[in-house]
Amino acid sequence: MQTEQSEILVIGGSLAGLTFALACATRGMRVRIIERSTGHVQGGDSLSVDLNAVRAVTGFDPRHAPALPVVPAYRDLTTWNALYRWLHDRASRTSGISIEEGMSVSAVNDEQSRPFVTLEDGSTRAGRAIIGADGYRSLIRRAVSPEAPYAQYAGYLVWRGLVDERLLSQPVAWPSNGGLWIEFVAGYRLVAAVLPGRDGSLEPGSRQITFAWFDAHQEVLLRSTGCLTGSGSIVGTLPRGMIDASVRKTLLEAIPSVWPAIWAEAVEAGIAGENLLSGAPIAEYRPERLARGRIALIGDAAHTVSPMTGRGYLTGVEDAGALAQALADLGDEENAVVRALSIYESSRLPYVKGLVSLSCRISDDYRKYASEN
Ligand SMILES: Cc1cc2nc3c(=O)[nH]c(=O)nc-3n(C[C@H](O)[C@H](O)[C@H](O)COP(=O)(O)OP(=O)(O)OC[C@H]3O[C@@H](n4cnc5c(N)ncnc54)[C@H](O)[C@@H]3O)c2cc1C
Repeated sequence: MQTEQSEILVIGGSLAGLTFALACATRGMRVRIIERSTGHVQGGDSLSVDLNAVRAVTGFDPRHAPALPVVPAYRDLTTWNALYRWLHDRASRTSGISIEEGMSVSAVNDEQSRPFVTLEDGSTRAGRAIIGADGYRSLIRRAVSPEAPYAQYAGYLVWRGLVDERLLSQPVAWPSNGGLWIEFVAGYRLVAAVLPGRDGSLEPGSRQITFAWFDAHQEVLLRSTGCLTGSGSIVGTLPRGMIDASVRKTLLEAIPSVWPAIWAEAVEAGIAGENLLSGAPIAEYRPERLARGRIALIGDAAHTVSPMTGRGYLTGVEDAGALAQALADLGDEENAVVRALSIYESSRLPYVKGLVSLSCRISDDYRKYASEN
């Protein structure tokens, strides 16, 4: 199938890709998203969101029905799944946005009259521009920055889980507007919070508990499971249901000396339960380019920071707004796409490079602390 050439192609239909598609549609542009997975894609469990930024960029207010469930803290907290569903529902119902799921892009080409991607089934899709929103292991980045295409391992992983409060003997004594609990204990960085329940409820007993357990002592495991290459590139994660029982047993044994009582039962339920725990090696990528010709990158594909910054998605929202606005401002004039992408790169690159540098400093400090404790 050949798409209409006025469309913008977005590779990756997760948080950044969906946000960008909405940003384009609300500015009158047509977008086609190509996403590898079908239906549900899984990301981090908790996410801080800036509701005003999402509204300004997408044109939809997450506070209006159907509202995005959030825990109102100093920064609003939600679950990854709730945000993904909210964005996906808005994008599916917005005219001008087409979504093709279960389609994986295997190559990108900007040397013909129109840029195009090739899918794994051999078919092609052409568009005005190709936007890589394909995450920290981006394929599209190889065309934008062939000299430095890979994100690097930051030296630690995060164990994380999301536990239904109903599974616990009693509600967690942490208020629904309490925000993130963060502590450094015995070489680990620990983060926990209460999040809205699956139905959006903030009632104690009906919420979900998220935990993130940053761990700088798992390089051997990551190498033996094939997640890390010899050169430090991340090529895999430890998904739910795939974490060895012996690894979970070691974590369970450490809980009493690491986690305070308020969170310990939830963390134990998350590690002992089937399919609740996942492990993500943390990646960082500091870009020298965000665009080349008619191809550009947004979100984690463009710049990858540690979750310790709490700014991964927010930065993707800002990218989406800046790029959509640059494309809308220049319209259909000759060479408009190349100019718009270049304007986008100039406006965003200094900030995102600084953010990744900050992320690397935070990671350095954490690794130093972990090695001394
Ligand atoms: C534990 C944790 C906590 C976090 N907390 C926060 C927080 O509090 N605040 C915050 O702002 N950020 C946070 N982040 C970061 C945030 O989750 C990410 O920045 C964000 O999810 C990245 O979204 P993305 O759409 O750019 O990439 P991804 O979510 O990685 O999506 C990439 C998409 O591209 C698709 N894809 C990849 N390759 C192809 C291909 N070849 N063809 C077709 N499709 C493809 C994938 O299937 C996927 O759907 C956190 C991250 C973690 C791990």
